[in-house]
Amino acid sequence: MQDIVIATIGSHSALQILKGAKDEGFKTLAICKKGTERIYDSRGYGVADDIISVDHFEDWNDSIEQELMKRNAIIIPHGSFIAYMGHDRVRSMKAMYYGTKEILEWESDRTMERQWMEKSGLKLPRVFTDPNEIEKPVIVKFHGAGGGFGYFVAKSPEQFWEVKNRKYPDNNDYAIQEYIVGVPIYAHYFQSSLTGEIEILSFDKRYESNADSIGRIKAEDQLAANIHTSYTIVGNIPVVVRESLLPKFFEMGENVVQTSKEVTGSDKGLFGPFCLECIVTRKLEIYCFEISARIVAGTNPFVEGSPYTALKYDVPMSTGRRIAREIKQAIEAGRLEEVLG
Ligand code: AMP
Ligand code: AMP
Repeated sequence: MQDIVIATIGSHSALQILKGAKDEGFKTLAICKKGTERIYDSRGYGVADDIISVDHFEDWNDSIEQELMKRNAIIIPHGSFIAYMGHDRVRSMKAMYYGTKEILEWESDRTMERQWMEKSGLKLPRVFTDPNEIEKPVIVKFHGAGGGFGYFVAKSPEQFWEVKNRKYPDNNDYAIQEYIVGVPIYAHYFQSSLTGEIEILSFDKRYESNADSIGRIKAEDQLAANIHTSYTIVGNIPVVVRESLLPKFFEMGENVVQTSKEVTGSDKGLFGPFCLECIVTRKLEIYCFEISARIVAGTNPFVEGSPYTALKYDVPMSTGRRIAREIKQAIEAGRLEEVLG
């Protein structure tokens, strides 16, 4: 334990990851873009014992990785980490890495992800492969669009082409999904590799600009001002779901984990924190539109734990702390390899 350092990139959910690691007795390290260090060191929230500063995360090179290996660091991946590093570089990393690497390609390739979701028996929004077949409201997502940036809604081929040609003439890498009318609910799971148990740690909904404020303007004013809905993520809001929905959410999580073993052909499958991004309709149907195979930023409101973790744990249990506890227990049981990708 004393020799291991928990490390992550300073962004996204790094505060709770590092805080949780300290609570479990680990030393911590943040890799920060120059100018952002103060959030993590003693001038800010004091969650990082050590900082490595870089000009750009894209400059991540062998010497940073050598440094991490020298320090016995275990890297905890999060959304920004994957976005900045890219899947290929993550897969070839030699430093210790918490989580499954095999699942990355299933998550990053849209067709493979959909196969995984379908096999798991999840209810999915219909996908339109040809824009000219759009015959109901759809949401258009450009690949690699970070945090919902650039998504738009259309209800006909004409509307689709109008926005696409005007705003994204050169980008042909997009997915068109049926727009599900309901409320977004993001379910945060933790699958333990040590006990085989699945937990639901919390739920959130996103606070998106301008989707979450457009209702403040009358429909006729929206039309007059030509305001279009956008989905740029700004923050996250905690949610507690109807208790009667919990069995279904547990079943969905279990199926996703079980299927991950089948599709990757490995006993390890998906483990650690993951998220099912869902829309729940007025008929209480749960549509899932994405799997996130790691800690999501929607767990950030729960640094002090959630109503669900309070039921199970006698200390404040964030997702970050849950990760650190799993690593600690793995070390104590001599099973560290089982939680590393
Ligand atoms: P950032 O480091 O905040 O620029 O974010 C890097 C990546 O992480 C972006 O691609 C975002 O999509 C994702 N991200 C950051 N914060 C959140 C959040 N609160 N919810 C969902 N995704 C996020
Ligand atoms: P994503 O970046 O894929 O997590 O999606 C960002 C946001 O787009 C979500 O929080 C929802 O508000 C919205 N969204 C995504 N997919 C759908 C869908 N199929 N139907 C309705 N809204 C969606």
